[in-house]
Amino acid sequence: MKRIFAVLSALLLALSLCACGAEQAQDAQLFAMDTIMDFEAYGTGAGDALSDSKAEIIRLEKLLSRTKESSEITKINDQAGTPTEVDAEVASLLKSALEYSAATNGAYDITVAPIVSAWGFIGGDYRVPSQEELNGLLKDVGYGRITLSGTTVTLGAGQSVDLGGIAKGYASDRIAVIYAKDGVTSGMISLGGNVWVCGKKPDGTDWRVAVQDPNDSSAYVGILSLSDAFAVTSGAYQRNFTQDGKTYHHIIDPTTGYPAESGLTSVTIVAKNGTMSDAFSTALFVAGKDKAISFWRSGKYDFDMVLVTSDKQVLVTSGIAGQFEKAEGSGYAYETIG
Ligand code: AMP
Ligand code: MG
Repeated sequence: MKRIFAVLSALLLALSLCACGAEQAQDAQLFAMDTIMDFEAYGTGAGDALSDSKAEIIRLEKLLSRTKESSEITKINDQAGTPTEVDAEVASLLKSALEYSAATNGAYDITVAPIVSAWGFIGGDYRVPSQEELNGLLKDVGYGRITLSGTTVTLGAGQSVDLGGIAKGYASDRIAVIYAKDGVTSGMISLGGNVWVCGKKPDGTDWRVAVQDPNDSSAYVGILSLSDAFAVTSGAYQRNFTQDGKTYHHIIDPTTGYPAESGLTSVTIVAKNGTMSDAFSTALFVAGKDKAISFWRSGKYDFDMVLVTSDKQVLVTSGIAGQFEKAEGSGYAYETIG
């Protein structure tokens, strides 16, 4: 009896060691799409998932970046005014982008591209464009002038498009597919402000995703407990420059040509679709608190959000309020939106 027990215990120990081995985290980092990307995966398919994910990001950057000579987006921009045949995947992403532009009344608008460039957010040659220059460029802003028919896209003459507000979200959707294909059921990725958590942590608990304090890079306003979710943040702190004491950030209000000043300092969208989350984080940052709340209340799209305002409020929608832990002593006032 004693021997059987000893054998059984040895077997159990061996099994639990195996389980531990299988749950070793594998991680990778990559600089792409102008940001640092972190990948973590657990389980036997983890190694494949990480290498496949990195390859996928590089493929998408080649396809979607408007600074890469050979990308589909460069081709579309170079041929503005004339019908251009594009890759089916790009056509489908453009279709989503146009849908989200319409849904947000143009707060998200990929035709802000020339204005993003004028501010130097492409290339890093930061400058404050004159009002005259912006007025000229604003004439060509308007997603309504883009036509998409199957895989043929035509921009209005003088227009160009920038998928920077949606590309990392789309990339995270693609990585979710890759993790599933490689059999990974636990892991997480962070592509700049775009987080995706796969399943739960290996110990069975939810992943904890911090929402950064936009005014203090070493602090956070709260922590979200999530599983199988995308959490995408757009914030004024993520990319900006300061000139003559004023800070200018990279999220442009398509109606003014200026960095959006909506009273929000960050928007985090939590949903099951990374592309949509990315488009809405950018759009609702532009739209501001009141419009963001009525858009959420309209129920047309399934998502939740955390809004951080410049007057130090944190607003959390009811769908995730139970998963949001406030940061004690943060100096923010917290409110649940129903
Ligand atoms: P995100 O960090 O996802 O909010 O996206 C910001 C990026 O999207 C910028 O760096 C620009 O490339 C682009 N962008 C800026 N403003 C807008 C806008 N209103 N609509 C669509 N894209 C934008
Ligand atoms: Mg975005």
